Amino acid sequence: MPTLVLTTPLRDVPGIHPRDADALASMGLPNVGRLIAHLPMRYEHEEAETGIADLEPGRIISARGEITATRVSGMGRKRRFEAVLCDETGRLDLVWFNQAYLRDKIGPGSRLRVQGTAKQRGPGLQVANPRFEILDPSSDEPAEYDARLRPVYPATEAINSRAIEKCVRTVLDGALPLIDDHLDADFRRARELPTLRDAYRMLHAPESEGDHQSGRRRLAYDELLLLQLGVHMKRAHLRRTLTAPPLRHDDAIDARIRARLPFTLTPQQDRVVADIARDLSLSTPTNRLIQGDVGSGKTAVALYAMLMATATDHQAALLAPTELLAEQHFLSISSILEGSEVRLALLTGSTPASERASLLAQIEAGELDIVIGTHALLTETVKFHSLAVAIIDEQHRFGVHQRAHLRTHATKAGETPVTPHVLVMTATPIPRTLGMTLFGDLDVSTIDGLPPGRTPVKTSVVTPDRRPDVYQRLRIKLDEGEQAYVVVPAIDENSDDGPTNLRTLMRRLEEGPLRGSRVAALHGRLKRDTREHVMGRFRAGLIDCLIATTVIEVGVDVPNATIMIIEDADRFGLAQLHQLRGRVGRGDKPSACVLIGEPTTEDGRKRLDAMARTNSGFVLAEKDFEIRGPGELFGTRQSGLPPFQVADLSRDLELLEMARRDAAEWIDRSPRLNEPGEVTLRRRLMKRYGESLGIGDVG
Ligand code: ADP
Ligand code: MG
Repeated sequence: MPTLVLTTPLRDVPGIHPRDADALASMGLPNVGRLIAHLPMRYEHEEAETGIADLEPGRIISARGEITATRVSGMGRKRRFEAVLCDETGRLDLVWFNQAYLRDKIGPGSRLRVQGTAKQRGPGLQVANPRFEILDPSSDEPAEYDARLRPVYPATEAINSRAIEKCVRTVLDGALPLIDDHLDADFRRARELPTLRDAYRMLHAPESEGDHQSGRRRLAYDELLLLQLGVHMKRAHLRRTLTAPPLRHDDAIDARIRARLPFTLTPQQDRVVADIARDLSLSTPTNRLIQGDVGSGKTAVALYAMLMATATDHQAALLAPTELLAEQHFLSISSILEGSEVRLALLTGSTPASERASLLAQIEAGELDIVIGTHALLTETVKFHSLAVAIIDEQHRFGVHQRAHLRTHATKAGETPVTPHVLVMTATPIPRTLGMTLFGDLDVSTIDGLPPGRTPVKTSVVTPDRRPDVYQRLRIKLDEGEQAYVVVPAIDENSDDGPTNLRTLMRRLEEGPLRGSRVAALHGRLKRDTREHVMGRFRAGLIDCLIATTVIEVGVDVPNATIMIIEDADRFGLAQLHQLRGRVGRGDKPSACVLIGEPTTEDGRKRLDAMARTNSGFVLAEKDFEIRGPGELFGTRQSGLPPFQVADLSRDLELLEMARRDAAEWIDRSPRLNEPGEVTLRRRLMKRYGESLGIGDVG
């Protein structure tokens, strides 16, 4: 036969039955290399072979002996083949379901070696569907089995785990020497990692628990290291090839900007502003995530960055996820900048076509300084004259592909492309593991803590039968001059048992407990003018209670609003609930959040519990990660990256930290991975992440 290589088709491997080779091929394992990469999903303890009298129920046993009796019994689907196996010490009952044909193979006098899980059956032990081997009386009996760990492989109907194990064993010794290690001996030793060859041997043929754990650790580390190398390589590449306008920052500019703000920045905001000012003064494009809980004051920090751009005659853009939020930002920033020279515009899907065309022309001509709009709109169509700072507000979804790709229009042919500094703001902090994984290329600043004078929001969870009580108390508060939001999951009624809907609830409240109060509806289907009108009246205190959909989820900032009631709260995600609750508790008055709901699922119950227990978005984000699991968040769908096979973000945090540190140092030392010793590593990295991270052409 030809010498074994990793690409040798399994069909050409002597010792592997063509039928098995075909079954493996149809599982996506056509050759030796793929088969070795097919890892066990778990391990079974197999006891050493013993006399039948010493077998214990509940364990995976091995025994051998002679068949003394057999019979086929039962009818139809219950048909089974039974046999009695005896040795000098005792008797073991065997039963195979639906395998009556075995009577032609096994009969009184056959010698058998069997394995399976022993169960107590009356006075004796029974093994159902045991694996067996018929011992040939004409040759020497095989040696006794030792206790060992047995790999259990993902299998199919065409080939079971045992058969896969046998095929793996057939190629393992020949294949392992063919596997090159992309990590050198010193590097591995310092991290107590086995060689790749050893790791695969430990996983396929472990001699102890420690073995397969150690093998797993190596492969998990490799996965994490590759991703981190990819992410850092991309970052280094961007830093080399892109430039951003360096913005001047001095005491005069700082003082001028601060004088504009209606309040003194908190020390936490100051720290983040210092990070930003340092970043923006460089020609390296900034890529910074600003995370701060709902209400922590991210807008002021964003405004500081935008004013740094306009102070140096550049443009800035603020991108919001919803039109309502863009409108709110436009209003509040307009009022802060009233009387200044800064020229400001709002551009959303609701902007009329004629106005839109003229705004686009002004933006391109550099006649507007700050543009506020929605994410999609600004990234797709707008050409800037000289965009220096782009702020993406309330970015909830995290993905390497979702970073804005804004380019200024001023680049001439042959010049290095100019890109804006990008600041991404989020109130939904990313769990630490996820952040490190996806945003290895992003700097992070955190505003921890709220502006002074806030009292924490009191949250309670109540069942729908207490609704009348909730609205009675709401009425009392409204009469005392406080303001409230009531959030519902749907606008129209579509069925009787559907979610609480805005129209029905509003009618009932207006006719019942809130009769005489000033109530208004707010939702996404209203025209922009109407929406602005309603928000304006609510802000001015001319409306007592807004009944709204989740359009108010982000950004709405009315400090006098103190009560948030959420109907069918169990229908909302945790991040969403926390955002909604963040609409109250923005002033110095005590605020309350009432979650009305009767969770029908375990996860729903956990979410409401978590909300009642903490006000911290950071704690909730970790909780959310726990409830939904890393798979949900780290799926290909969200991140655009291939998922891990071995690494598990919920338990490999330490490994991830190590990989991240190692990758950062590595790329510092060798940004293109072009050293002679890095050939294998680079090849594996490109194969896995070249395309998804867009680093295929780096170096
Ligand atoms: P978020 O981080 O959720 O975007 P905002 O920027 O909307 O928070 O700020 C929440 C509220 O806190 C706003 O009413 C804002 O005016 C106020 N605020 C922000 N910073 C300060 C500060 N340093 N002192 C007092 N109030 C502040
Ligand atoms: Mg905000």
